[in-house]
Amino acid sequence: MRKLPAVLAVLLSGCAGGMMTQATGPGTVKVTPLGSHDGEFCARDRAMIFEDPDGTRILYDAGFTVRGANDPRLGKIDAVLLSHVHGDHIGPAHQPSANAGACGNPDFSVNAAPNSNTVNVAVGKNAKLVVGAELGSFFAAKMKSAGGNPAQVQLVRFGAMAKVGGVRVATVPAVHTNGLPPEFLDKNLGDALRVNGLTAYVGPPNGYILAFTNGLVAYLSGDTGITAEQELVVRRYYGANLAVINIGDVFSTGPTEAAYVINEMVKPNAAIASHANEVATQGGKVLPGTRTEAFMKAAKVPAYVPLSGKTMGFDGGGKCTSGC
Ligand SMILES: [Zn+2]
Repeated sequence: MRKLPAVLAVLLSGCAGGMMTQATGPGTVKVTPLGSHDGEFCARDRAMIFEDPDGTRILYDAGFTVRGANDPRLGKIDAVLLSHVHGDHIGPAHQPSANAGACGNPDFSVNAAPNSNTVNVAVGKNAKLVVGAELGSFFAAKMKSAGGNPAQVQLVRFGAMAKVGGVRVATVPAVHTNGLPPEFLDKNLGDALRVNGLTAYVGPPNGYILAFTNGLVAYLSGDTGITAEQELVVRRYYGANLAVINIGDVFSTGPTEAAYVINEMVKPNAAIASHANEVATQGGKVLPGTRTEAFMKAAKVPAYVPLSGKTMGFDGGGKCTSGC
């Protein structure tokens, strides 16, 4: 057999491991942040909707800022993703109305515990609730008690991909914690944990990979520090070309660490900052001296700010084609 030229052999071996050899297809994935204050990036903002060109709509981490199942910004929702059960992601409460409270300290006075904003939205929208870890049976019971169907819960542990409409969904490791706060448990167990200062074990937290029908592969980091899987799994296997990355500092990657993950590990074609834990913008403009500004300056690829209600469109290659 004729020997392959060395350069060609290297190129082929470089392609062999990843799943994402698919060509990019037509259409745009629409990404819409659902924060606490219209047109801004505020302290507790986490939630985003991803809409595939085939119409599938996926909500990522409802948190406090989605205003219950009747939030008019939601529209049709096919699946709700939850990265982990900390309050700012599962949502023990939510904002009563748009712009209530301050950007740095929003009003989250509508209580949702011992259920959660996440479960209420999944029930109200008759959507799948996608979770990892040990959360399948826990959320099946929560869905039932909130009037939903336990079969709506889709457990996706680290491994192969599930499907929501035409969108393929995988979980990827996040290095963080995932203790369930006592307020989501029955009184006896909740009180016992509370007096001991403990949370309930529900398995590890995770991030997500969303592979859309136009070829876009989005990495949603969840809360995480730097972890080898960001290079080995997220880049090498899934070939993520868009990354939504947390920059919150101390409890997860801060702006410097997040920029390192983008520049040296995941190497997407674009990034969206998330979970900044600060008043990042005023009038939709990034404020000087913020973590968000530091991240955007340090990232070597185009980095965007998730302004609440402002839809960004991405082609299959991870290029922002509208709204950025
Ligand atoms: Zn968080």
